[in-house]
Amino acid sequence: MPPGLEILHATEDVRRRVAGWRADGLSVGLVPTMGAIHDGHLALVREAAAGSDRVVASLFVNPKQFAPGEDFSAYPRDEVGDAALIASAGGDLLFAPPGETVYPEGFSTAVSVGALSEGLCGAFRPGHFEGVATVVAKLLNMVRPDAAWFGEKDFQQLQVIRRLARDLDLGVAVHGVPTVREADGLALSSRNAYLSAEEREAAPALHRALVALAERAVAPGADLARAIGEAERSILAAGFQRVDYVAVVDRETLRPADPPIGEEARALAAAWLGKARLIDNVAVPPRGP
Ligand code: AMP
Repeated sequence: MPPGLEILHATEDVRRRVAGWRADGLSVGLVPTMGAIHDGHLALVREAAAGSDRVVASLFVNPKQFAPGEDFSAYPRDEVGDAALIASAGGDLLFAPPGETVYPEGFSTAVSVGALSEGLCGAFRPGHFEGVATVVAKLLNMVRPDAAWFGEKDFQQLQVIRRLARDLDLGVAVHGVPTVREADGLALSSRNAYLSAEEREAAPALHRALVALAERAVAPGADLARAIGEAERSILAAGFQRVDYVAVVDRETLRPADPPIGEEARALAAAWLGKARLIDNVAVPPRGP
């Protein structure tokens, strides 16, 4: 076990530890992950450490958010390596529940966050956001933190979880963290491991297309449909095989934004490159990561 990091698998154990911290007046932050930890996850752990006295990271590859035929079994798993990285970023506890702890025999509850889950990735991954909302609601109840940190990299997921916490009065503050990128703009993702060397070269085109789209969308007299079409063409021209969507939406409702486009908008895309389905998004107009 890495120095300073405790690893727990049972709900009673994590609850006891968190209740003890809270009884001592310490605030507790949670960073849910599916493992295959990279610098994007570590940015969340660091933010959580800056914003709370103790940090719990959870590691659970959630079967409910993968549709049949998606990469659940291929998803990279390395608890020992992940624990060392989480410790290095200031994590205090790694909660790694087994599948049957999260979904015991007879589990039959689902949490569904209506309209926000339907468009964008929701239209291409049926059941995905219900799986995400269900596991996040469950993890928040298992750990009972004061706050939880999520990446803007998964922008639709972040908005779904914000809504979930508000709608169900979960009593947890939900914080978003800007996307961590490679030097060439590619958003860090566990799925980047699926890319060949050639595909890795092509991958930053997704971010470049979104930055160009976000710039064009706010230009006076912008033709949004045309700008979206050009973004799709540039992604395909770079070597992606298929674009699931490119969209400019209201960042709160995730409904298509109406021109004139202003700062309430967000540009998002998902596209296939070899075996990897890559997603990305940027603020409109583009600023920071
Ligand atoms: P995952 O393990 O892919 O489910 O991601 C766990 C958390 O890390 C989610 O809140 C993601 O949004 C966040 N995350 C993943 N990649 C990045 C990134 N490149 N930058 C910031 N956060 C990220």
